[in-house]
Amino acid sequence: MKSQKLVWMKMRMHGCIPIERVILSNASMNESVGILPKKSTPYYASLSGLCEELQRQIEPDDRELFAQPYEMPDPLSENMHTVSPGLVHRYQNRVILKVTDECAVHCRFCFRKALIAEKRGALLESDLLLAAVYIAEHPEIAEVVLTGGDPLMLKDTQLQYVLTVLREKRPDIVFRINTRIPVVLPDRITEKTVKMLAAFSPLWVSIHTNHPGELTAQASGCISLLADNGIPLLSQTVLLKDINDKADTLEQLFSQLIRLRVKPYYLFQLDSASGTSHFRVTIEQGFEIMKELRLRLAGYALPVYALDLPGGGGKVPLTPDRIVGHEEGWIVLKDDAGKEYRYPE
Ligand SMILES: *Cc1c(COP(=O)(O)O)cnc(C)c1O
Ligand code: SF4
Repeated sequence: MKSQKLVWMKMRMHGCIPIERVILSNASMNESVGILPKKSTPYYASLSGLCEELQRQIEPDDRELFAQPYEMPDPLSENMHTVSPGLVHRYQNRVILKVTDECAVHCRFCFRKALIAEKRGALLESDLLLAAVYIAEHPEIAEVVLTGGDPLMLKDTQLQYVLTVLREKRPDIVFRINTRIPVVLPDRITEKTVKMLAAFSPLWVSIHTNHPGELTAQASGCISLLADNGIPLLSQTVLLKDINDKADTLEQLFSQLIRLRVKPYYLFQLDSASGTSHFRVTIEQGFEIMKELRLRLAGYALPVYALDLPGGGGKVPLTPDRIVGHEEGWIVLKDDAGKEYRYPE
């Protein structure tokens, strides 16, 4: 039994003053992998001062320091499907390209926290070219999802360059940009940004938002600017304990998104990244919430409740018939091919 010294580098919101905290390990748990310093924007920080559910998304917690035995640095096994630096090809007709590992805020429950913690910055130009060549050589790929980190942390000119290089090699490619910027740093998206993005149509933007408190006048303005310029919008939400694990909260979130011309796309069951278990809502509770939402919302206002099967099984819609059993603390689920996977109860 070795007691480990963990150093917690807690960055102050504005001044980046590191505060060291030394904690002795609990022998039954492992040291967490990829501990993120605190990071927020002045905008999101001021909102979170008014709303606990936003505060909990960005405030570091000692429980992050220890990983449960089932938690992993790379819960989706993205490394297994990485075909060139930053490029993940898991589904036949679409790939994701991680164009930067930077984000405007550090969400404490992030499933790519181990990647973000490495702080490598933007994808190298040589790696972008490698990705473009791979995509050009694989005509079955119809769509590139730009992700990270947050692609909108790049400057407009950098993002434009990425989109240009990929379109040049594959004029028919569809783009999707996954971003949290509209709700954490809405001023980043200017009229110029939107015009630049609109020039790459078909280009979809999928907004990561978890709580109706994130849809302020500023965020709504940013989203409207995107919609007014013909950019189709989706949203992704992570189901989070004590943040949005109530039908009322999610009903508000999804109906507001519909008003803003955003189609709620996914409600994700939390992935098993290191030190995130205090955010986990059980799948059973998730089913209950979805059942209630089905009574309250229009069909198209309901996202798909989904889980990325641990260990690279891919995304599957979560429905009760996917669960094939329970085994001492585990839920056993099957994918579409009938293969079994385990997720913590
Ligand atoms: C989520 C994801 C996609 C996109 O999947 P959709 O179901 O189309 O949203 C593509 N590739 C990888 C590796 C993913 O994790
Ligand atoms: S914005 Fe996305 S990638 Fe960045 S920390 Fe939050 S969840 Fe992770």
